[in-house]
Amino acid sequence: ELKSIKLLAGNGGHAVTRARIEEMFDTVISSPEDVAKMQADERAQIRAIASLFIPVDAALIDLLPNLEIISSFGVGYDHIDAQHAAKKNVVVTHTPSVLDDEVADTTVGLLLNTVRELYHAEQYLRENRWESEGNYPLSSLSMRNRTIGIFGLGRIGRTIAKRLSGFDVAIHYHSRNPVDGVDFTYYSSLEEMAEAVDTLISVVPGTAATHHAINANILKLLGSRGVLVNVGRGPVVDEEALIAALKDGTIAAAGLDVFEEEPKVPQALREMKNVSLLPHVASASQDTRNAMGALVIDNLEAWFKTGQAKTPTPETAHIKSSKA
Ligand code: NDP
Repeated sequence: ELKSIKLLAGNGGHAVTRARIEEMFDTVISSPEDVAKMQADERAQIRAIASLFIPVDAALIDLLPNLEIISSFGVGYDHIDAQHAAKKNVVVTHTPSVLDDEVADTTVGLLLNTVRELYHAEQYLRENRWESEGNYPLSSLSMRNRTIGIFGLGRIGRTIAKRLSGFDVAIHYHSRNPVDGVDFTYYSSLEEMAEAVDTLISVVPGTAATHHAINANILKLLGSRGVLVNVGRGPVVDEEALIAALKDGTIAAAGLDVFEEEPKVPQALREMKNVSLLPHVASASQDTRNAMGALVIDNLEAWFKTGQAKTPTPETAHIKSSKA
């Protein structure tokens, strides 16, 4: 029965998941731009989108009158207009929880790499400079006596905090609502937290409310020992202000897995020594990506078999089909 359902998928994305989807559904491969050029009756047959990173805006949703579900790969869904989908009674699903451990591991690695310059130390050895020039210079920063502020103590933020609890560092957090059952110090304002900490880990979603939340003022409050780690979304940080703050010593260093205009990373950042840069790989192990892909497929299957998705986004969690 699933094989008779027309599903739209973009080019690229996680190969294992794509292959499985193509096997299970009557898959139409198209870019969002090409969908606009399709005949209206062809568009009307499409009931699902598998978004393995293809953006789904309001215009694309409006082109598909019988769309029921957008199953997205990844927990962050800033590339999908979920509010518009909700208005059109289209459920949007994502892949929460299955990637928490991987992203938290990567975050801790990125933090240590940034603070202790491990990447540069390894480069030094690989260039054989240890033998020819002697010991690598002492790192000016250390994890000792750091106060960590986690911006977004959600599923991933809590998993990061659990790991950092073993590091003997103070842990504070900011989100709009305090979290029950944790004894980390809560701040209702990001400014107040930035003033109290020297190490800021950002793991909030990319939304209108978080856009450029980390600006010149927040960076200044972190102080000259300040370290910023961003694993949430690029646009949460004002990249231009960050570059200026890193250049003039307003903060000491930054570790970044996400950027404002991926995959473009400003040359100024790529040339700086006091940064550690990763190409958006926080969840990118084969095991974790397979688990995310399995959840993309489970959501599609559950929707068409039971009328209820497994992990809908909060905006569309109320939507069920007549089958439910
Ligand atoms: P959750 O929804 O579980 O947590 C989000 C947290 O952010 C909550 O604590 C929420 O608390 C807080 N938050 C949201 N909006 C605001 C705001 N305007 N001001 C202050 N706090 C806010 O999400 P996850 O932990 O599962 O994922 C978080 C994000 O991490 C994803 O949306 C994604 O963008 C990013 N991510 C990046 C990856 C990578 O590869 N680099 C991999 C996976 C995720 P409250 O609602 O109380 O404010």
